[in-house]
Amino acid sequence: MKKALVIGGGFAGCAATHQLMAAGGWSVTLVEAGPYLGAGVRTFWFGGHPYTFGPRHFLTQNEAVFRYLDALVPLRRCNEHEFLTYVERDNAFYSFPIHMDDIERMPDRDFIHQELAQVKGVANAKNLEEYWIGSVGRTLYEKYIENYNKKMWLVDDNRLIDTFNWSPKGVAIKEGPRAAWDTAISAYPHAPDGYNAYFDIATAGATVLLDTKIDSYDIPNKSVVLKGEKLHFDLIVSTISPDLLFEQCYGELGFIGRDLHKIVLPTEHVFPDDVYFLYYANDEKFTRLVEYKKFTRHQSPTTLIGMEIPSFNGRHYPLPYMSEIERARKYYELMPEGVYSIGRAGSYRYGLDIDDCIEQAMQMAQQVKEGGRDYPVPMEKWR
Ligand SMILES: Cc1cc2nc3c(=O)[nH]c(=O)nc-3n(C[C@H](O)[C@H](O)[C@H](O)COP(=O)(O)OP(=O)(O)OC[C@H]3O[C@@H](n4cnc5c(N)ncnc54)[C@H](O)[C@@H]3O)c2cc1C
Repeated sequence: MKKALVIGGGFAGCAATHQLMAAGGWSVTLVEAGPYLGAGVRTFWFGGHPYTFGPRHFLTQNEAVFRYLDALVPLRRCNEHEFLTYVERDNAFYSFPIHMDDIERMPDRDFIHQELAQVKGVANAKNLEEYWIGSVGRTLYEKYIENYNKKMWLVDDNRLIDTFNWSPKGVAIKEGPRAAWDTAISAYPHAPDGYNAYFDIATAGATVLLDTKIDSYDIPNKSVVLKGEKLHFDLIVSTISPDLLFEQCYGELGFIGRDLHKIVLPTEHVFPDDVYFLYYANDEKFTRLVEYKKFTRHQSPTTLIGMEIPSFNGRHYPLPYMSEIERARKYYELMPEGVYSIGRAGSYRYGLDIDDCIEQAMQMAQQVKEGGRDYPVPMEKWR
């Protein structure tokens, strides 16, 4: 049996463990610093309601990834969902992504149309502000994007944000159906405890060490010291921030964290029928509210709202700065063949979601099987 070490027991670590166990021939040790698997995707209960740390609904464009997860934790499709943004200066809720019909009901619609007719495009955009203004003009940028991103990234100036997985076409204004991502599969587990069963299924047969941290890493030699013992592995799959594997020798990688406040309200539903999330693009400290029962379908005379406030608490959102991505790349260059760095922190990539964790784990196992040399890390989405 070959020996694999998986570092971190969030979705990516569990998915990687599952892929290796399914491939056969691997003895897998998964090391998780916390007391449970799943991290923020694990369902807990508050006020009789199931909840996760922020919304964690399953969104993918990859049928194979959907089928994989659906076979293990049956999923209910929920493609009807809409997201709304509250724009205080219009005292109105508008769909997000920005929808043409909403522009028609804005008090300054004529001015916005003039701006839209003059947008310059994004070919020369160097930062988030230029990208959005180049796509939709200054007024729509101010209404939907400016304050939201400042609080999301805890910055005073969005021009600091100089990379964002931008499309060369810029941001299109939506027309037709309002459902937020009608080109993707949107789903959520049927089970009252959400994805929880997945973490046990995925790690069955592996050695799972909870509440455990590795004492020290020697990644170039695929070795670690664990509970005082030096261990060598044939394969290491890390899902934690790459700087932690190298004693931050190139400096600490930056992240934004989150505080989550849970509020029970004495009413069956608060949000309109198909609305799952509300975004707030003004001076309030919070970015997003979620009404959990919209996707959990939990039955109760009360409802649970989650409120997210950006903070430095936790390493949830890798910074979308080129300088930080460059720093991450230097860490990846220190990783030899047989070391993978996947998942959100592991890839140091904002916007890397549950489906991407699964896809990366599948790709990793495939490469290992084929003796592929596409090491050390996937920096881009697979498609
Ligand atoms: C608030 C929020 C809401 C989100 N909503 C959605 C959504 O609706 N849909 C969606 O698809 N995606 C969503 N995402 C993204 C998605 O949930 C994540 O991309 C995915 O869960 C990341 O999994 P991961 O395993 O890469 O990382 P994590 O979930 O962060 O897991 C990493 C694990 O490593 C452990 N760890 C850390 N340091 C060490 C160490 N030194 N040693 C051992 N273990 C360690 C941690 O305890 C943790 O369990 C959301 C993310 C956030 C933050």
